[in-house]
Amino acid sequence: MDSTLAVKIVKDQGVDLEAVHFTTPFCLCDKCAVNAVGEEMGIKVHHIFMGQEFLNLLADPPHGYGSQMNICIDCRILMFRKARELAKKIGAEGIVTGEVLNERPFSQRPLAMRLIEREAGLEGRVLRPLSAKLLPESELEKDGAVDRDGLYSIRGRRRLPQMRLAEELGIRDYPCPSGGCLLTDPNFAKRLRDYIAHEGKLTVEQVSLLRLGRHFRLGAANVIVGRNEDENRFLFSVAERDGIPRMRVADYMGPDTLIMGEADDRVLDRGAAITVRYSDAPKGSPVKVTYIHGNESTIFAQAIGDEELDRWRV
Ligand code: SF4
Repeated sequence: MDSTLAVKIVKDQGVDLEAVHFTTPFCLCDKCAVNAVGEEMGIKVHHIFMGQEFLNLLADPPHGYGSQMNICIDCRILMFRKARELAKKIGAEGIVTGEVLNERPFSQRPLAMRLIEREAGLEGRVLRPLSAKLLPESELEKDGAVDRDGLYSIRGRRRLPQMRLAEELGIRDYPCPSGGCLLTDPNFAKRLRDYIAHEGKLTVEQVSLLRLGRHFRLGAANVIVGRNEDENRFLFSVAERDGIPRMRVADYMGPDTLIMGEADDRVLDRGAAITVRYSDAPKGSPVKVTYIHGNESTIFAQAIGDEELDRWRV
């Protein structure tokens, strides 16, 4: 919503704009909604996916984490650098963002905003129309490209002023009103922390595995159990493609389970017991679990108890 408002405010002053929509492997945003807003506003939308470059920052972010695994300061520095490159390519004079002073405690404090601008090589070149009157004049205002009197002095976490302004400016549809980054989700952050602690580096493919299924940590191995047909299909295809060991209950409906990392017999037995737990097999006696790693073999396992299960869950 904030970006949509910023675009509208600056566009109404007769400034030519092109939008850029950033995504990371952790976004829950709807790209189509962004395109629809761009179409309605009559502006071109560029899409930039921050993939491996973003993931490389995640294990050890130079400016630390927010409340969970969100690396908002480093993320914004990367976004601003990419925006600067794009601005150069398309001949843009400055950058406009929907940031609101003190809306986010980690990355939208005055000091953090200045640091981000500086490290991205954009000092003074970022205009934040929603909070501009509370901030030093940007170059776009100094040059007269934008009239400061037509800008706003919104601050803080309450969204009410933006909602009122949206009403005033006739904006009804806006994408992601409350944000959508998995890195701020405490449950996902726990899973990610566990993964980084054991594996160090992340790839885009690994993130797609972290985003789905139930995960269990068994020593050096990570056991991933599908929660529904779609997830099972995906896990199956990843296992086939990458040669990852997988298991499934032989004679009953049940999930596909991937065994990632080093797995000894104990891990395989536990993985099989977890697989049985989430299948339709009777829980009180051992059943056949098919284990596929190159060849097929059979493990007999009884469903793991809930208490023990919770000990391994991440
Ligand atoms: S919430 Fe996520 S996408 Fe947004 S700035 Fe922070 S790390 Fe980046």
